[in-house]
Amino acid sequence: MAARAAKSPPKRPAAAKTQALPESIELIDGRIVPLRVIVNPRARHISLRLDSARREAVAVSPSARLAPKAAAFAIDRAGWIQAHLARLPIAIPLTPGAIIPLRGQPHRLVMTKGRAPARIEPGSPAQIIVGAPDAEAFAGRVRRFLAAEAKRDLTRAVAVHAKALQVAWKSITVKDTTSRWGSCNSDGALCFSWRVVLAPPAILDYLAAHETAHLRELNHSKRFWNHVARCAPEFEKAEAWLRKHGASLHAVGPKAAA
Ligand SMILES: [Zn+2]
Repeated sequence: MAARAAKSPPKRPAAAKTQALPESIELIDGRIVPLRVIVNPRARHISLRLDSARREAVAVSPSARLAPKAAAFAIDRAGWIQAHLARLPIAIPLTPGAIIPLRGQPHRLVMTKGRAPARIEPGSPAQIIVGAPDAEAFAGRVRRFLAAEAKRDLTRAVAVHAKALQVAWKSITVKDTTSRWGSCNSDGALCFSWRVVLAPPAILDYLAAHETAHLRELNHSKRFWNHVARCAPEFEKAEAWLRKHGASLHAVGPKAAA
């Protein structure tokens, strides 16, 4: 197998104290997959996993000394990485003509000249029309539009659930999170992935209910789930949907930098 480290200069010199580590792996089909080497002293041995949200290989090393070995271990397993990538939903870049889900319905991305605010045109499929001078600016504007739509839907949903649960929230932030769809801290700051707006509305509504219920119970106790059930009686269906289709939400557009 012709896997080898692609020659790319290390971006973070701090991470390469001893020697420069490869930052990507070339697969046998020529594709380049980013490689992240993590030093975790609690790890008992070198291991490899695929971060499916970011579509990158993650090699875990128990020590900095073994980090080059962990990188080599990952490069040796290019075939394994390729097989696992093949099982992920096909990535959909935010390019003109692409069809992406929004609120669970297919929408075609359309680029126009000029700076008119992005808008949705109904139809089959519906269109998301975004003004941009070129494809690169277009992707960024589509992403910002989707994030703004997510924040609007989430703010509306949280307001309803907060009223039902008699709680107050401090702020709602949308980000490109990879490990969780939402989070809540004890100050009442709620944070969500903008990608939840791609899912059917019932899923976004459940996630809003989940984080709002944390304003009552900052844990996953029985009491917490009772609050969730009051706001979103079909919460189990929503959880099952996320387990099954979560990766397809991460397949849309580029990932934000780590
Ligand atoms: Zn939770």
